[in-house]
Amino acid sequence: MAHPFLAPSPYEADGGHLIGRDPRTIPAHEWRAVMPDPLVGLAAIRAKCLDCCGGNAAEVRKCVCVACPLWPLRMGSQPAGMRVARQTAPEPATADAPTLTE
Ligand code: SF4
Repeated sequence: MAHPFLAPSPYEADGGHLIGRDPRTIPAHEWRAVMPDPLVGLAAIRAKCLDCCGGNAAEVRKCVCVACPLWPLRMGSQPAGMRVARQTAPEPATADAPTLTE
């Protein structure tokens, strides 16, 4: 039996295979029945990173995939510096500011 959050694709190119339903259309009673305690936000990101690293928290901490969109949030919290940077104007460049080098 298919997972209730899967449904036959309405797109011909998918050949009738099951695809994930749009979670924005799933009503509350189904969430309660199928996934009563879903992870959201930072907790979901942390869980994904642990999954990515085979459950090894040390490997998540050492992750070198800086291009991954989850990388800044992989420890399960928003870094204070990142939060401030998003809320304030850029600081003028200084000689000792970190730069990307090859
Ligand atoms: S940040 Fe690293 S550990 Fe997290 S999902 Fe991306 S690659 Fe995996």
